[in-house]
Amino acid sequence: MAENKRDYYEVLGVSKTASDDEIKSAFRRMAKQYHPDLHPNDKEAEAKFKEVNEAYEVLSNADKRAKYDQFGHAAFDPSAGGGYSSWSGFGGGSPFSGFGGFGDIFGDIFGGGSTRANPNGPIRGENLRQTITISFEEAAFGCEKEIQYRREENCSTCGGTGAAPGTQPQTCNVCGGRGSVTKVQNTILGAMQTTVPCSACGGTGKVIKEPCKTCNGNGRVRTFQKRKIKIPAGIDDGQTIRVSGGGDDGLRGGPKGDLHIGIRVKQHKRFIRDGADIHQNIEIPVTTAILGGAINVPTLDKDVKLTIPEGTPAQKTFRMKGFGIQKLNSSEKGDMYVNVTVEIPKKLTEKQRELVAKLAEEMGDGDASKAKPKKKGLFK
Ligand SMILES: [Zn+2]
Ligand SMILES: [Zn+2]
Repeated sequence: MAENKRDYYEVLGVSKTASDDEIKSAFRRMAKQYHPDLHPNDKEAEAKFKEVNEAYEVLSNADKRAKYDQFGHAAFDPSAGGGYSSWSGFGGGSPFSGFGGFGDIFGDIFGGGSTRANPNGPIRGENLRQTITISFEEAAFGCEKEIQYRREENCSTCGGTGAAPGTQPQTCNVCGGRGSVTKVQNTILGAMQTTVPCSACGGTGKVIKEPCKTCNGNGRVRTFQKRKIKIPAGIDDGQTIRVSGGGDDGLRGGPKGDLHIGIRVKQHKRFIRDGADIHQNIEIPVTTAILGGAINVPTLDKDVKLTIPEGTPAQKTFRMKGFGIQKLNSSEKGDMYVNVTVEIPKKLTEKQRELVAKLAEEMGDGDASKAKPKKKGLFK
């Protein structure tokens, strides 16, 4: 099922590095194009509409987008199995359970929110997204990483107006400062009133006669940022850190957007992580299993002795309480699970073989005499 699905980026016609803004406007454009109200009884349009909505549902959410980038459609396919059980972190069940039908989308496309009604009102800055890959240990103990990214800032030369210092933007006389013009179109559904952004002022409601030289009249400049990010101990693969106010500056006094940092954790060559618990496999000598003894178990920061009791079976899991990973925002730690298997030697010296044979005889195991070596020739 999953493999027949089109790539979400392809569905929206955007690149893999598209900003949240680009994704949103692509979605609005496509959803309007295929909206079922404009294509009654058109199954193909309806399917397209659903596909567009599904793609947007994932790509507009920083966590889901990170999962999708890593695992593709399998990230949201419960039948795929494998390492994607963290799906439950999004609320469980279908990834699209929150989608309540066309009504919801209609509101999202055409509702627009109050910021669109007033082109001169404040608008919150866009959220930005970055991904950091860290090691297993860095995730376990926490770390600090420097990231570099670009964000949009209000131009300091013109104070964000886009007008050269000493001048002011003028009210657009095409739209009267509203930023939009209303048109009436005749369609098969009857007269349809549509409101489109004013082309004379680009929807801003203002016209700049003399643009600021620093920002070319945009009122905004893209700046290069370096930022140290504290990654807390216990963070897990696929989780996101939100840096409040780390996104783009808001427009006209609107608040800054946030910076979302998706965390990828590299696999460890020995440890397998399961939440705050760690699993590892260790082979022990057959004699230790029989007689008991102690083995050295690697943990996150040091080797720890583990007592193997006399008569340990061929496969057994030992739990070392508190030797796992610190839980996020807690002083509690998970456990270390050691899956012990008994190593049966494949080659024995003649002497070892004699001893095992004696042991077998002593224990009355079968016909031990047959197990005796025939002097030479067996181990060449
Ligand atoms: Zn400027
Ligand atoms: Zn205008």
